Amino acid sequence: MTTVPSLHGSELLRLVGADTVVPLVNGEERRYINLDYAASAPALASVATAVEALLEWYSSVHRGAGFKSRAATAAYEGAREAVRSFFNASPDDAVVFTRNTTDSINLLAGTLPEGTHVVAFAGEHHANLLPWKRCGVRFLAVPESPDEAIEQVRVALRGLPACDDPHLAAVTGASNVTGEIWPIRELAQVAHENGARILVDAAQLAPHVPVDMVADEIDYLAMSGHKLYAPYGAGVLIGHPDWLRAGDPFLRGGGAVKLVTVDEVLWADLPDRQEAGSPNVIGAVALGVACDTLASAGMDRVAAEEGELLAFARERLAAVPAFEHYRIWPAAHPRVGLLTFNLAGTGYDLLAAVLSAEYGIGIRHGCFCAHPLMMRLLQVDEPEANRLMDATRDGQHPRLPGAARISFGLGTTRADVEAVAAALQQISTDGPRWTYRLSETTDEYEPDPDPRPLPELPMRLGEHHRTSGESA
Ligand code: PMP
Repeated sequence: MTTVPSLHGSELLRLVGADTVVPLVNGEERRYINLDYAASAPALASVATAVEALLEWYSSVHRGAGFKSRAATAAYEGAREAVRSFFNASPDDAVVFTRNTTDSINLLAGTLPEGTHVVAFAGEHHANLLPWKRCGVRFLAVPESPDEAIEQVRVALRGLPACDDPHLAAVTGASNVTGEIWPIRELAQVAHENGARILVDAAQLAPHVPVDMVADEIDYLAMSGHKLYAPYGAGVLIGHPDWLRAGDPFLRGGGAVKLVTVDEVLWADLPDRQEAGSPNVIGAVALGVACDTLASAGMDRVAAEEGELLAFARERLAAVPAFEHYRIWPAAHPRVGLLTFNLAGTGYDLLAAVLSAEYGIGIRHGCFCAHPLMMRLLQVDEPEANRLMDATRDGQHPRLPGAARISFGLGTTRADVEAVAAALQQISTDGPRWTYRLSETTDEYEPDPDPRPLPELPMRLGEHHRTSGESA
């Protein structure tokens, strides 16, 4: 029997900065434990290497006759096909490079036909919530189970006013707060049975499990390169070209046109029509390389290994006495590698500061750009939600309820999980071993004093201006 070697530690999936050492407040140093992949992931070494090589050939794309322009254009268009293939998008789908998921969803929101209504859950990330507020939208309560989610979408779509064009169900692929993987295929089928389309916000899904747009019948997919190990500022919107080429483009400017007079514009075909301005060639190529790298590792394997790690983490963390884990669906439901929790007795924001300052562990804390979902998970009632809203409107800074989140990625090991579990155990028993104060400027806890020097980076940004300002 041959055993398949683990992807962890493989050269193929090596991450830039995996061995970075960070200072602790007590003067010691530690290998940084990154448990914040869901917010943003480090670059794959293959991506950084490709970017370095591309810079040699970097030039304007599409309209340049120069040899470097031809090379850069080939790389840019190659990236489009790498992304298409990674998500198994249909050959007819438009693949539009954007800045990130937020940009992609706003772009789609701007192209909805007149009369098209959107159905979306209240528990979505703000990126898949706020853009719909300028369309006809019906927000659905956070469902108690996947079956309820499917049923809610069915009922909501049937209740929408008749329209010549399809309506749209906009759903997350995996929650950035609770990690549950949503029943995309079933939701897509319900949407299609009811004459609607589906958008999947794949920001948290794509880095963790295989996504097959054809098999899952996904009409539109939005995602961010910086969560897929390509943090160079590009994201993508993939989907049916009809809405994207009807009407005026989201952004108007150079590159999106065939011909312009002072009175008239002939817009270009897709994808150029929705990529006005000079595109982010480096970001797009980085994203394409990340897709190719992950495809050659096999997303099934990535998912399987992460699943094992998550099961281990859940068991290990459940043993920490004060650990309160949040979820919306039954514990056995499949999820991506992230856990949102509170440690009873320690504020979530203080906890994040302590983990960083005393243990060299980076996590995320707060409301994770999903305020409605967090209010529900933390059982904030309506009067309290209204009080927070009024106080914030009045310019006060009320302390918002929140939680801590750890999230896994390609570089996460069992040792990392052990380290965070041990740290949480120690904090819940002994409390912080340093002093902290709430900063008036950031509203965040900071070690007081904080003796950790920032790293000596090769760039001295703004120093020239400071020096010349001082001498003036
Ligand atoms: N959707 C989900 C589920 C997310 O987790 C995020 C980022 N946290 C976004 C959308 C927005 O991604 P970006 O900030 O890259 O636009």
